[in-house]
Amino acid sequence: MQEFPTFTSHLECSATGAHYPADALHGLSQAGKPLLVRYDLEAMRRVINRDELAGRAERGFWRYREMLPVRHAANVISLGEVATPVVPAPAAARLHGASVLLVKDEGRLPTGSFKARGLALAVSMAKELGVTRMAMPTNGNAGAALAAYASRAGIESWVFCPDDTPAVNVREMAAAGAHVYLVNGLIDDCGRLVGEGKAGMGWFDASTLKEPYRIEGKKTMGVELAEQLGWQLPDAIFYPTGGGTGLIGMWKAFAELEALGFIDSRRPRMVAVQAAGCAPIVHAWQQGREHAETWQDARTIAAGIRVPAAIGDFLILRAIRDSHGFAIAVEDEAIIRAGAEFARLEGLLLCPEGAATYAAWRAALASGQLRPDERAVLFNCAIGLKYPLPAAGTRIDCRQPLDIAALTAATA
Ligand SMILES: *Cc1c(COP(=O)(O)O)cnc(C)c1O
Repeated sequence: MQEFPTFTSHLECSATGAHYPADALHGLSQAGKPLLVRYDLEAMRRVINRDELAGRAERGFWRYREMLPVRHAANVISLGEVATPVVPAPAAARLHGASVLLVKDEGRLPTGSFKARGLALAVSMAKELGVTRMAMPTNGNAGAALAAYASRAGIESWVFCPDDTPAVNVREMAAAGAHVYLVNGLIDDCGRLVGEGKAGMGWFDASTLKEPYRIEGKKTMGVELAEQLGWQLPDAIFYPTGGGTGLIGMWKAFAELEALGFIDSRRPRMVAVQAAGCAPIVHAWQQGREHAETWQDARTIAAGIRVPAAIGDFLILRAIRDSHGFAIAVEDEAIIRAGAEFARLEGLLLCPEGAATYAAWRAALASGQLRPDERAVLFNCAIGLKYPLPAAGTRIDCRQPLDIAALTAATA
């Protein structure tokens, strides 16, 4: 990759607007809130345009490198990211009376989830800023992406996950070189341990929104989606919301794209999807609050959205309200049924969190929150194959002649 022009002007506190210098290591702002990367968009606008972008050979999100904070090409840590496909789901749309339904399938990224976007940027920037040790709490996919990108960057990684995190995630993190710890608590308990170990271990804390660059990586979902749809954003985006990095990142992307003259002022309705067993954002949205209360006794099979408290809660809620979107909770039962239905209809295996967006889309159509003519995009955030599947298969005795009647009965 060639050197490229970069445009980061400063970092900004998302709550107070206070400025912080770029090119220095930062965690949260002094107010304890997430920092956002700001760019000289006027200067950027003179360098990139839609036509030139269309001619670039690079397919994955590094094709938007001028919109990203990494200064030097040598610090770009890449595992061969692809532009994830937008897959139409015509059978599901037909079944539920909608004109169209699209799924952005993020499971195609390295480490099998969209966490690759955020951690690719966080690790590249950590390398650029001289970090040698990173740590984070994780429900699985973020830790896997951290482990992979950090190992590739020559950075050591430590991950702390709830002890019921899916085994495949735990083993993946260890295989990719992380020090892995299983904690008898939830992700916020894991986050506390990272905080306690930071000083003594010399860790840079890569927790969701506690460093400024994962948002920039997740932002590329919005840029990529816009480009794939011919710079016409959809009417609604259903996003499985844990820490909300992707929802906040896409909302930021749309503002930057408008400033660059790539899109007009129309925006999709941003829909935050949570599990009924852990729905702090839905609750806060219903109550008209600016911040969410910590959810007690969080439980859901959708581990990626089992986040009882999100430090960027006010940014998630603001994007939902500014976009005239909504927040919606779905039961685990509905998630399981939706995932099974979608795989059967469309042949695409969703992860539980992706299935939650399909369950929410169905519910929103049924309740009238979404009109059948609204073009919706669901985010399938991880590859379905990472998750346990129900037992299947009928046994056959190969020492007997094939019994056609039995086969017909088994498939009936
Ligand atoms: C992390 C994760 C989420 C939540 O993403 P945020 O942007 O942090 O809200 C949803 N699903 C899966 C599979 C995840 O790994």
